[in-house]
This record gives sequence, structure tokens and C-alpha cells, in this order.
Amino acid sequence: MVQDRIAVITGASRGIGRSIAFALAARGAKIVAAHTSPGGGQALVDELAQLGMECLAVQCDVTSSKDAQRVIDAAVEKYGRVDILVNNAGITHDGMLIRMTDDAWDDVLSINLKGAFLCTRAVSKVMMKQRSGRIINIASVVGQGGNAGQANYCASKAGLIGLTKSNARELSRRMITVNAVAPGFIATMMTDTLSEKVLQDLAVQIPMKRLGSVDDIANAVLFLASDNSSYITGQVLAVNGGMYM
Ligand code: NDP
Repeated sequence: MVQDRIAVITGASRGIGRSIAFALAARGAKIVAAHTSPGGGQALVDELAQLGMECLAVQCDVTSSKDAQRVIDAAVEKYGRVDILVNNAGITHDGMLIRMTDDAWDDVLSINLKGAFLCTRAVSKVMMKQRSGRIINIASVVGQGGNAGQANYCASKAGLIGLTKSNARELSRRMITVNAVAPGFIATMMTDTLSEKVLQDLAVQIPMKRLGSVDDIANAVLFLASDNSSYITGQVLAVNGGMYM
């Protein structure tokens, strides 16, 4: 399905991005892992190498257009092409609207939305020449339904859905598909900050009565990255246990 495909994944050092890297690598894709923390990328390279899987780590702050270009250039230099881009890097900086600082707004919009734009712009030139490609943006259930205390995060993820649809319309003639996966609440470091009580309350609101796992998201990405999804573009695949329909 993705054998020998070249997949660039941002924020691949942990959580959902790491799981996506393992899922794609296990099916024969070669991973280019964009990470910011100095040790994060190498740890992934070493772990995948132990399992006989290939990964190139490139330090990249997705808010920098130079870094975004560098990670795509590194992939092309090593492999000659890029087949899959997963815009996964993301942060939260929560707070109620009236107390939200300018920095909290700018940081979240910059990483979650501008970062995806910069990486997509850089990879599009390569994919347009190839006349093929898969771009997958990791949005969120709260980008669809909103959430109190997350104005910046929800705006960034709703923006990412708009970016997905616009880019899908623009790139489909070149056989490039652009889709989003919108996870519900997934057990990662991002949700580790929530108290046990909040997590229990959340689980009660989810029709499937549990938080999602990183593998739930990786499986959806794997489908959208594969040939099985070749006629699907501009869509938002919700992976949320029925939390938002
Ligand atoms: P984590 O906090 O576990 O991981 C975030 C990743 O983003 C890290 O690998 C981090 O890399 C990377 N990152 C942060 N800032 C930057 C930056 N400036 N440039 C490049 N990479 C950066 O989060 P999750 O795995 O939980 O989330 C992954 C994605 O899924 C995010 O987009 C998030 O919004 C989304 N999501 C998560 C949900 C959840 O419940 N967990 C729900 C819905 C959506 P490093 O450590 O190297 O800086």
C-alpha cells in the first residue's frame, strides 16, 4: 500500500506523529521525521533501525519557512521524491478568551496552521512535478465543534480544515490529494496535562466511552496515504469515537 513511498512527518518525535511513523514504516515507507527537540529525531531513527526500518531525522521548526524547505530538500536529496506529507506538529496553549495573551494566540496559530502551510507549499512544488502525492493534515474534533478555553487552538484547527479544502481544489489536477484527519481526545503528552477527573468526564461524553489511541489515528492516516484512498480529496476523516457527528 505504501511500500517504498517517501513520507515526511512533522512532529514525529512522540505521540501521534511517532505512531504514524511506525505505522507507515511497518508497511515499507521510508520516513523523513521532522522534529525540534535535538534528541527526539535520533531516538526514532534508532528505534526504527532496530526493527529494520529506514528513517531520516531532520531538525525543523515548522514555523520557519527555511526549515520547512530544508526538510523537503533533505528528503528529495536522499530519496529523489516525496510521496506523503503528514502535517502533524501541533501545540496547545489554552486559556479563557478574555485572559488569552497575544503570544498564546500567535504561538498556536503559527505552529498549528502556518507550519502546515509552509510545509505544504514546500512539498507541493515537488509533488506537482511528480504528478502524485498525498498530503494529510492532523486537525481536531474541536476545530469542527469548538471548545471553551481553546479559542486559539480551535481557530488553528478550523483554519487547517479550510487549508485542506483549498489545497485539495488547487492540487487535485496534479493527482495530489489533500485530506484532514480530525482526532477526538487521544491519550498522548498533549492530554496528559488534563486531570484524571477531566479525562473521566470526557470519556463519559464520548459515545464509545473511551479516549482514542495513537494507533486509531495512525490507521486513518495510513488509509489516506495509501492507494486505497486515491479518489478521496478535500475530506475530513473524523476519528473521535462518535464525539462529534
Ligand atoms: P504531542 O504534544 O505528544 O506531540 C507534539 C509534536 O509536535 C511533538 O513531536 C513536537 O516535536 C512537535 N512540535 C511542536 N512544536 C513544533 C514546531 N515548532 N516544529 C516542529 N514540530 C513541533 O502531541 P500529540 O501527539 O497529541 O498531537 C499531534 C497532533 O495531533 C497535533 O497537531 C495535535 O493538535 C493533534 N491532536 C491531538 C489530540 C490529542 O488528544 N492528543 C486531539 C486532536 C488533535 P518536538 O518534541 O520535537 O518539539
